[in-house]
Amino acid sequence: MAVQQVFPLSCVVQHYAWGKMGSNSEVARLLAGSDPQARISEDKPYAELWMGSHPRGDAKILDNCISQKTLGQWIAENQDCLGSKVKDTFNGKLPFLFKVLSVETALSIQAHPNKELAEKLHLQAPQHYPDANHKPEMAIALTSFQGLCGFRPIEEIVTFLTKVPEFRFLIGDNAATQLKQSMNSDSQSVASALQSCFSHLMKSEKKVVVEQLNLLVKRISQQVAAGNNMEDIYGELLLQLHQQYPGDIGCFAIYFLNLLALKPGEAMFLEANVPHAYLKGDCVECMACSDNTVRAGLTPKFIDVPTLCEMLSYIPSKDRLFLPTRSLEDPYLSIYDPPVPDFTVMRMEVPGSITEYKVLAVDSASIVLVVQGRVTASSPTVQTPIPLQRGGVLFIGANESVSLKLTAPDDLLMFRACCLL
Ligand SMILES: [Zn+2]
Repeated sequence: MAVQQVFPLSCVVQHYAWGKMGSNSEVARLLAGSDPQARISEDKPYAELWMGSHPRGDAKILDNCISQKTLGQWIAENQDCLGSKVKDTFNGKLPFLFKVLSVETALSIQAHPNKELAEKLHLQAPQHYPDANHKPEMAIALTSFQGLCGFRPIEEIVTFLTKVPEFRFLIGDNAATQLKQSMNSDSQSVASALQSCFSHLMKSEKKVVVEQLNLLVKRISQQVAAGNNMEDIYGELLLQLHQQYPGDIGCFAIYFLNLLALKPGEAMFLEANVPHAYLKGDCVECMACSDNTVRAGLTPKFIDVPTLCEMLSYIPSKDRLFLPTRSLEDPYLSIYDPPVPDFTVMRMEVPGSITEYKVLAVDSASIVLVVQGRVTASSPTVQTPIPLQRGGVLFIGANESVSLKLTAPDDLLMFRACCLL
């Protein structure tokens, strides 16, 4: 008999301190949805749900008929499930990690190296750069989701240099003037002026940063107390970040980077060398398997300022939303296909009036998360249909066609990660 290619997974929760607490967290709510026995601790953060085979969070297989206990073990012994191209290209490993994130306090401002730089950094400083792979990431909002992504248009940064003297003080008059003058120049002059400004900020003495930040916080607090609106310099966000990370250089990054407020279904893609931070909200995230992160602030962790200032893409741009494409074959399917080989994410939104939905077979292993709705899943290699509801996670082997019967009148919302080479 053919090896069973479809089975449900029990996924690993990471309780990082920045996560939303208890049932405020979408991670916890998904967990409770899929497993009525699961007990949610209201005083514990539920930061991430890891859906994949990463050694620090290998998903458990929820099927007693399968002898392997985890997805990683199963893939190691059933390599064809990855898909022929994926198996060869990624050395027999699942190339992506799929996650749900519930963010309460901001995650560090960071960027990820490209492959070339990752190899170099890993050779030079393996203690900070644990592998030689790149780490492109994509976040798709589940609830309203706030993040920082890429450099703002120069005009906006120049406006902040005028309106926020504390910010200008750290950057210095020379670099600030250079940036203003670059506005009518070619992209290379813009990039070099921007790099100069950002480097001046990042290389500021800690003591001076704290002084200027305290001045700014005091000024905003007084104005707010007097009933004045400080939103033209993001007063509320600045106070909030300062409360989370007092004295941290990263608080000033909001004047360099675009602030994105994603609505459910909207996405941002973090390609190599683009500075970014997740600030608040719930999202699904997919990334290449790597841990390489270069940090720039809002963190107590190691910050490698020279590498960071050197590597970043100093390309100002307002357009940071990553738009999905509509499938031509399936009217309920949107495809988020970033310009990297490692992963693609699909969103399936099926109206409750439909009774049966076919998940497209692809030449790649897939992981499917049910966010809303209730189905039973069947496929040629599955003997008994698998019931799935909110929070359910399903593994699908390459080229396996799966049919879903909707068993509740609710609309169905699912996300699927796979690798389309
Ligand atoms: Zn990142």
